[in-house]
Amino acid sequence: MSAGRRSGAWGRRIAAALAAAAAAAGWAAGAQVAPPKLGYSDTPFLPGGKWRVHDGTRPQPRVVDPGTGSTPESPGRPPSDALVLFDGTGLSEWRTASGGPAGWKVENGCMEIPAPGQPGRGPIRTVREFGDCQLHVEFTTPSPARGDGQSRGNSGIFFLPHYEIQVLDSYGNQTYPDGQAAALYAQYPPLVNASRKPGEWQAYDILWTMPRFEGERLVTPAYVTLLHNGVAVHNRTEVLGRMFHRQAPRYVPHPPKLPIGLQDHGSPVRFRNLWVRELKGYDEP
Ligand code: MG
Repeated sequence: MSAGRRSGAWGRRIAAALAAAAAAAGWAAGAQVAPPKLGYSDTPFLPGGKWRVHDGTRPQPRVVDPGTGSTPESPGRPPSDALVLFDGTGLSEWRTASGGPAGWKVENGCMEIPAPGQPGRGPIRTVREFGDCQLHVEFTTPSPARGDGQSRGNSGIFFLPHYEIQVLDSYGNQTYPDGQAAALYAQYPPLVNASRKPGEWQAYDILWTMPRFEGERLVTPAYVTLLHNGVAVHNRTEVLGRMFHRQAPRYVPHPPKLPIGLQDHGSPVRFRNLWVRELKGYDEP
């Protein structure tokens, strides 16, 4: 028997075996196949009584392409379900405080706060408003560094106008700790100072939970978790209320969603790769 005939016979035997296995498994063309059974239906209910432990009928989580991380040279690709607030090309998602077109400089894939004396100055805010969310922001403070304390590389990420996560050049630049980079301004310093040098790209990954109000009454406070350059600096920290310069915080009732703001504090801080994802509850589409 030739090698060719032998391999042909083996091929036919393998094909027949595969067909038998497929038929046994119900995979043959045209077969009506019940979906594979997932999980269990005889297990105890979880607290709340909606889903059982290992409940196979529980909704499958939505699939999201997680994108890619940034490198010092180039911004990463946002997750597929993110709303991109700035991709390096324009400021269509941003307005001035009075609602006009945002005038910050867009150059080399970055937006930059105009230096004092330049046109387009002033804080900017998103066109849209956001509630509970995951917010990704990358920034770099001016190099060489200029000024000191609060005047070195100052900007800020706001949920307007109540809450600010401080942006500052805190690399070898001391200030009051609840006003340094990644501080919840006027409330909590970061757990550690994970700042990079001026001119290097830094990232904030912010998980923000809005407070809930019933009329004027606070029902639940805001909470924030923050990673600064991948380092945890706030861990589901309870926000104490609206943040004020030189005043104690207090909650001031506001709508469930707020615009995101970027502060102009007179330093030409640059931003790139800004995106936000709405955060919903478990089992929601
Ligand atoms: Mg600031």
